Amino acid sequence: MTEYDVIVVGAGMAGASLAAELAAGTKVLVLEQEDAPGRHATGRSAALYSEIYGNTVIRALTRASRPAILAENGRFARPRQCLHIARADQMERLEAFAALPDVASASRRMTAAEALAAAPLLRAGYVAAAVAELNAYDLDVDALHQHYLRRVRAAGGTVRCNACVTAGAFRAGLWHLEAGGETLRAPVVVNASGAWGDRVAAALGVAPLGLQPKRRTVALVPGPAGDGWSDGPAVIDIDERFYFKPDAGRILVSPADETPSAPCDAHPDDLDVAVAIDRMQAAAALPVSRVLASWAGLRTFTPDRTPAVGFDGVAEGFFWHVGQGGYGIQTAPAMGRLGAALALGRGVPSDLGDLGLAAADVAPARFGA
Ligand SMILES: Cc1cc2nc3c(=O)[nH]c(=O)nc-3n(C[C@H](O)[C@H](O)[C@H](O)COP(=O)(O)OP(=O)(O)OC[C@H]3O[C@@H](n4cnc5c(N)ncnc54)[C@H](O)[C@@H]3O)c2cc1C
Repeated sequence: MTEYDVIVVGAGMAGASLAAELAAGTKVLVLEQEDAPGRHATGRSAALYSEIYGNTVIRALTRASRPAILAENGRFARPRQCLHIARADQMERLEAFAALPDVASASRRMTAAEALAAAPLLRAGYVAAAVAELNAYDLDVDALHQHYLRRVRAAGGTVRCNACVTAGAFRAGLWHLEAGGETLRAPVVVNASGAWGDRVAAALGVAPLGLQPKRRTVALVPGPAGDGWSDGPAVIDIDERFYFKPDAGRILVSPADETPSAPCDAHPDDLDVAVAIDRMQAAAALPVSRVLASWAGLRTFTPDRTPAVGFDGVAEGFFWHVGQGGYGIQTAPAMGRLGAALALGRGVPSDLGDLGLAAADVAPARFGA
């Protein structure tokens, strides 16, 4: 039997970023059920960083992640303008959104003419107005994920694949986890298993939080003929019923679906792909002759759509780091630092506190755990 200070379950972006922050000075083991990290949500994202996406807590976590996202000479992020568009019948929603103080300070209003000039693929007459973000980026998700995994190993931590945590119990101050044919021990277990969060808790005898994985579909279609569109903006419907953006010479499009699912290896449904293309074509003059690729992944939400980060209210030594929803890449730098600080019994990092974030906002105990 081997003993660690902390065992992290799940080597996706959540587990990797938290483990990287913990690894200096802490003996960390990361366990991943698959043969490689990043097979699930982390490897399937749309790779967008938007500071005005998600609820107030998500927006604060995203903003606090910007310095890390922009570090290393742009290795992790490239600017990508992002337009949140509204038709005439969606203007009330746009007005309410644009009036939020942190949205207002991170964006500017665009008229229909300005939106068309910024995104010539949009159909004249579709858009009534838009909110344009000042700080939006395309992310290199793999580069960021590998960076965190490398930091874990460089600090002496271990990342072990093909190691599914199947059972565990807390005895005499230590968690004893069964994984990959071994018993592994540590006083603290971090549950960063994404869609499997409640299942992992149940396997360890811990009450669930009520996590809900929701399937989201993405398709790649050919870009239009001609030049000048591939540096164009990401376009997001203000009610989030679709989004599309240029992606390496193609167009990435999603119907922004949120179909409840059990934890699984998610697959795209043809109907969702068709809906994505249909909604995009209502807004943009983009003939689609074929679908080049499509995939789906699970975005996992807590009941209030804010992540759960902190020790369980009942189970000793059991730390939750789940519920990243559709924002787990862009928030990973701040979430990793927040999770590590709380797991070590330190307070909320000061830059996050300055943005108004309190431990209670993300405490798992708010769900009765
Ligand atoms: C289509 C799509 C588009 C998205 N677009 C964006 C975007 O543009 N920007 C953004 O910021 N976010 C986006 N997201 C969300 C983002 O991908 C997720 O929030 C993030 O990847 C969650 O990371 P995670 O580590 O919690 O989950 P995962 O990456 O799923 O990692 C959890 C890991 O835990 C492992 N695991 C589970 N059970 C066990 C067990 N018993 N033992 C050991 N290991 C276990 C799993 O195998 C998995 O590797 C998108 C997601 C999807 C699906």
